[in-house]
Amino acid sequence: MSQSSREMAIRDYYASFFDIKGLERVIDFKTFRTREFGFASSDNKFFRNISFEDPSALHDFLVDRTPLHAYVGAVYDNPPTRQSPIHTLGWLGHELVFDIDLNEYDAVRNYICTCQGADQLCNRCWQLITLAINIIDETLRLDFGMEDIVWVFSGRRGIHGWVTDSCGFNLTQEQRMSIIDYLTVIHGEEETARVEDRKELPEEFRKRVEYNVFRAFLTDVKRKDLLNVGLTTSRASNIISLIKHQDGKIDEIVFREFNINLARSNKYDEILRRWVPRIDHKVTIDTRRLLRLPFSIHGKTGRIARILSTQEILNFNPEQEPSIYPNIVG
Ligand SMILES: [Zn+2]
Repeated sequence: MSQSSREMAIRDYYASFFDIKGLERVIDFKTFRTREFGFASSDNKFFRNISFEDPSALHDFLVDRTPLHAYVGAVYDNPPTRQSPIHTLGWLGHELVFDIDLNEYDAVRNYICTCQGADQLCNRCWQLITLAINIIDETLRLDFGMEDIVWVFSGRRGIHGWVTDSCGFNLTQEQRMSIIDYLTVIHGEEETARVEDRKELPEEFRKRVEYNVFRAFLTDVKRKDLLNVGLTTSRASNIISLIKHQDGKIDEIVFREFNINLARSNKYDEILRRWVPRIDHKVTIDTRRLLRLPFSIHGKTGRIARILSTQEILNFNPEQEPSIYPNIVG
């Protein structure tokens, strides 16, 4: 696709379809004027320290400049500009954000499906993302009392979680780091990453992780998967027939049966290592971070970074998202 036709498609989207009002579901318009924005131009040059008088000025900019990527950052005491860059300004706040991307799972994805490389994904490995969202969303609500959480498709292979409660907005780096620590089950990205000792995890959180992970593992599980995690042939057969008997439903009986047998098999850590949420810590901890602007276009895929409802998250498939570029199918 030529650069000019790509620019035309981006302009058309921003001129006719961009949901500038919808953006208010994620960022507060009262502080719009002193909020930082950043952009990558069509020749992939990156600019930040940009601010706008109001949302319609941002909208005009997007139509006029057709950036390849658009990002939004923190709120400061004065509008960020090239003359007054963010490090010279007072930081006032940033929504608490989480970045979950399939890239983080590359070391373990081959145990779950046959996808390879950066460009492949399938329903089975996308379950890793859905699972991470479920665990993080529930933990933020139940253990941290956060209420307003918005999940936004990244436009490619991930999801961004935005906590828009005012309590999330004011958190310091240290506080964000301790939330990440709370949510951390494995230390490191590699296949052999250390799994946090069960006793070290807060009990409610540990139960939630195990419940969600084992359910995901058991959904469409094959006999060989059960043998691979150390179950004996008879135990594996027993679990498979239980699931089959219930038309694939993973109920309490199946869950308990699996849990007991897994404890005997000593492969508990292995399953957790493959399935638990892998959050990009840097994104959450960096309070000046720029994150893809909700409802903007991902310049590479032509897909919209749109907000997903809880129901949509369950059945979401990024590859079926329409692209504004005509040569990308789906
Ligand atoms: Zn896959």
